[in-house]
Amino acid sequence: MSLEAETERAAEILAQSQHAVALTGAGHSTPSGIPDFRSPNSGLWEQADPMEVASIDGFQRNPQAFYDWIRPLAKQMMEAQPNPAHYALADLEQMGVLKAVITQNIDELHYRAGSKRVLELHGSVRTATCTRCREHLPTGEMWRAVVASTQLPHCPRCGGLLKPDVVLFGELLPAHVLEEAQQEAERSDVMLVAGSSLEVYPAADLPLRAVQAGARVIMVNYEPTPMDACAAVVIHKDVAVILPQIAAQVKTLKGQQLAASP
Ligand SMILES: [Zn+2]
Repeated sequence: MSLEAETERAAEILAQSQHAVALTGAGHSTPSGIPDFRSPNSGLWEQADPMEVASIDGFQRNPQAFYDWIRPLAKQMMEAQPNPAHYALADLEQMGVLKAVITQNIDELHYRAGSKRVLELHGSVRTATCTRCREHLPTGEMWRAVVASTQLPHCPRCGGLLKPDVVLFGELLPAHVLEEAQQEAERSDVMLVAGSSLEVYPAADLPLRAVQAGARVIMVNYEPTPMDACAAVVIHKDVAVILPQIAAQVKTLKGQQLAASP
């Protein structure tokens, strides 16, 4: 099938859906200039072993090494803007088509693009927790300070070390978020996978749950994924190019549905 036909088919499936959900991964934010920090090609691992610095053990053993590692990534996230793929998903939600975005990303870009219901499987950089008094804090100030100096961020209340609320290697995913994501997958009749190569659990498991519950999968990712064979539509292209095209076609189709209804 031609790319045009695949895009049209994806739009038709979404326009007819009752409960579509999206699942996004690192590839959704790479057009915004955020590297996939789990990828060995991201440039973030040249001076550090991920399992060492970005694990919960590593954080506890050597927080300085953790913050030295995350500093360039934090700077990129502060400077990043949502890309057309983020806005396309926010538009699909506003049209009433998309019921939730499940994401592996920690960068907040879905919220900043206007998505309302976002399930962040790996947490987010928006808040931090004090490792001593467990106080939760918004992180605007913290990241500015982390980027500007090599000092470790401390809790304004008790002086304890702050840890961003992102899931590090060796940490469990937030249980309530994971449970909600699994329920969404099982309730969905369409799952749009965008910019995830489905290599990391539980991302890999969610489309499978959706398919087992009878959903159709639309796959938009640069690289082939293990779920391509089960998908109704597979498009190996840039999400920032394809998703806006799909969203525009869904909008047209929804308009026609509205005009045709009595
Ligand atoms: Zn504290």
